[in-house]
Amino acid sequence: MKEMILAYQGEMTLKGLNRNKFEARLAKSIRYRLEDLGPFQVTQAQSTVFIEPRADGLDMDEAFRRVSKIFGIVKMSRAACCDKDFDTICATAEEYLGQTLRGIRTFKVEAKRSDKAYPMKSPDICRELGAYLLSRHPHLRVNVHQPDLEIMVEIRDRGAYIHGPKVEAAGGLPVGSSGRALNLLSGGIDSPVAAYCMARRGLALHHIHFASPPYTSLRAKLKVRALARELAEYTGNCQLYVVPYTKPQEYIRDNAPDVLFTVLMRRSMLRIANKVAAQSEMEALITGESLAQVASQTMAALACTDAAQDLPVLRPLIGMDKTEIISISRKIGTFETSIEPYEDCCTIFTPAHPKTKPGLAEIEAAEAAMPGLAALEQAAADHVEKIPIRIGDDPEF
Ligand code: ATP
Ligand code: MG
Repeated sequence: MKEMILAYQGEMTLKGLNRNKFEARLAKSIRYRLEDLGPFQVTQAQSTVFIEPRADGLDMDEAFRRVSKIFGIVKMSRAACCDKDFDTICATAEEYLGQTLRGIRTFKVEAKRSDKAYPMKSPDICRELGAYLLSRHPHLRVNVHQPDLEIMVEIRDRGAYIHGPKVEAAGGLPVGSSGRALNLLSGGIDSPVAAYCMARRGLALHHIHFASPPYTSLRAKLKVRALARELAEYTGNCQLYVVPYTKPQEYIRDNAPDVLFTVLMRRSMLRIANKVAAQSEMEALITGESLAQVASQTMAALACTDAAQDLPVLRPLIGMDKTEIISISRKIGTFETSIEPYEDCCTIFTPAHPKTKPGLAEIEAAEAAMPGLAALEQAAADHVEKIPIRIGDDPEF
């Protein structure tokens, strides 16, 4: 008996002419993710990816876990595959699921026949395979409404596939199919979730982090690297750009009105991010901002931040509240790292009463009174440290 993983493609099947490109990206991601587990053959047909081990003893549990995090797949199953000869299907179902059937009381067979030339119709397959399994397990009953196990038989062009219920996979679109963007990654809860959300929409992304030593510590930077590594299971390999931000930040602190400090700093961060993005042809910036969460995330403050540079700023969390963000953060596995208590540059020098409704005119006036800022920003952009993030690197630090 041969076991394989079936991965069912999601909405990318709707994308007409782009479909081949999408499928190629998806297959590439899957191959890449499974490479170090041994030889797997990855093929596609009928909106499904067939992932077949080509050696004995490959770790199918781990392969399944990894594929479940690859965007572009909506559902998955592990299936036994065999010839379409009906006796073989019965024998394979018994061999693959017999043990499970011994431990349950009710079952149901569902059949799907995408090979329309197959001599049996779906209801016949259900009835006859059901009868066969009942004869082998007389304690069982059929329950079509709430069975303990639903057995699926798919008759496809290439063969028959027998499996239990499909499970939810990562959804979304294959990473890279929507373009490239630069994610502003702090050590907090929100920005890793923002990265996840945008990667799920098919963006290939890199991260940028602003560090202000000695106000922020090496531990804080390592925490951000750990987050980027945890995200790599979803985003794929990427770069973490670390900007030495101390000088621009001190300059703003020393030369601008206290109440405008946060918005001025955020504009400055986005201008630097824009320069780094331009070097690697990234088409947008991503932040973890959520409307009204803090003073720098009011409508007026966001408008001032947006006006600082010309790339689109994507804010996937803008309409979410903290509990929703936290629940995604737990689901994707970044929460525990995010809550480690290291300082972020955004929380140093912050005034006690930041202005929640800054006007663009006063912000621009404050910037005009800081003639040295542009050069400091350029120098920071020129001295970015580039840390490669590889899937499978140990996220511990
Ligand atoms: P987070 O939980 O992501 O830190 P936050 O609620 O603490 O977000 P802010 O500190 O105002 O909010 O930051 C808003 C957004 O700005 C963050 O989501 C992130 O995208 C970006 N950001 C903040 N600090 C940094 C930093 N040091 N480096 C890179 N980006 C940052
Ligand atoms: Mg933060």
